Amino acid sequence: MPVQPEQLDAAFLKMNLAKDFLMAHQLIPTPVQYWIAYEYSASGHPEITELIDEYLKEHVDLNPHFIGHLYEKCFLPTSDTELAQSVDSLLGSVLKDVSENGKMLDSYASLLDNQVDHIEHAGVQDAIKLISEVAKTTKQTAQNQHELSQRLLHSEQNAKQLQQALKEAQLEAITDQLTGLYNRKGMDKKLPLLEIDHDEFSIIIMDIDFFKNINDDNGHILGDRVLRQFGQVIKNTVRGDDLSIRFGGEEFLIILPSTLTTGAVTVAQNIQAKISKMAWKNKKTGATIGPVTMSFGIVTKQLDESWEDSIQKADQALYHAKNTGRNKIIISPDKEID
Ligand code: GH3
Ligand code: MG
Ligand code: MG
Repeated sequence: MPVQPEQLDAAFLKMNLAKDFLMAHQLIPTPVQYWIAYEYSASGHPEITELIDEYLKEHVDLNPHFIGHLYEKCFLPTSDTELAQSVDSLLGSVLKDVSENGKMLDSYASLLDNQVDHIEHAGVQDAIKLISEVAKTTKQTAQNQHELSQRLLHSEQNAKQLQQALKEAQLEAITDQLTGLYNRKGMDKKLPLLEIDHDEFSIIIMDIDFFKNINDDNGHILGDRVLRQFGQVIKNTVRGDDLSIRFGGEEFLIILPSTLTTGAVTVAQNIQAKISKMAWKNKKTGATIGPVTMSFGIVTKQLDESWEDSIQKADQALYHAKNTGRNKIIISPDKEID
């Protein structure tokens, strides 16, 4: 059915509202952020409207981290359900095609049997007529077969697209939108996989020092930029098997498989050295921001210890670092690295 002009007008109006919303909050229209902006502007999702309105009562602006939370909370189940429905309907149409093809070939085979019987007992004139009928049906069957193979090819392409969409949705669900590191859900998903291949782990937990002041003095946007770039530093410093997670607002966690305390200390020192060389500019005031420091807590997980207990130990070491001057690395319980 063709799209009605008023439907188009309404859709474009919502699109423009979503665009205004994104611009007002200086959000980049990534698919996730656009989605949220669209739903909020179109009042299509009461929960999103309520959560955003509530958030804006206490905060000046939105940030990608909060939007990421909203997406995980409100959209993912819908998106999964929609994908599952698409897979179901694709499977249904393929099965229908295959079953119709089976029936078509069966009836063609019985027609051939029948006609061959007749031809054997027919005169020349009738035989020619029967052969011509067989040729016609054969041609029709070949045509049907061609159409079916086109449809199956199309279904195969659809299946590939769906598979890709599912992969992207799954990855997006376990990724922190601002930093590109794993979120907590990602950590829960990836840890069991790591435990298949490794049984010794070190943990680094780190938290940006006086981050609230950076936001307060320079605005959330610059704060976000610092977070994003620190995420990048972490990603570029760790090894392939290591798991980097945005654990909370300005808190990060690295799980290092098959790594002893000394290895974890080296990683923390490398991160510390890299961020000590970074600086930002407040475009409004012209002031230079930086270096921004972090405090680190490190623990090596005991074999019989739970992840919660190990992380808590690392967290206590981090607290110790905070309470004794910040910008330092503490190995649990309280050993300071020079
Ligand atoms: P400390 O050295 O003790 O860790 O002090 P702090 O100021 O870093 O810690 P505090 O917990 O007082 O403040 C953390 C701040 O991090 C407050 C919060 O607004 C900010 N924050 C959390 N998530 C985000 C985010 O996604 N973007 C930005 N820009 N700021 C965030
Ligand atoms: Mg902090
Ligand atoms: Mg913190």
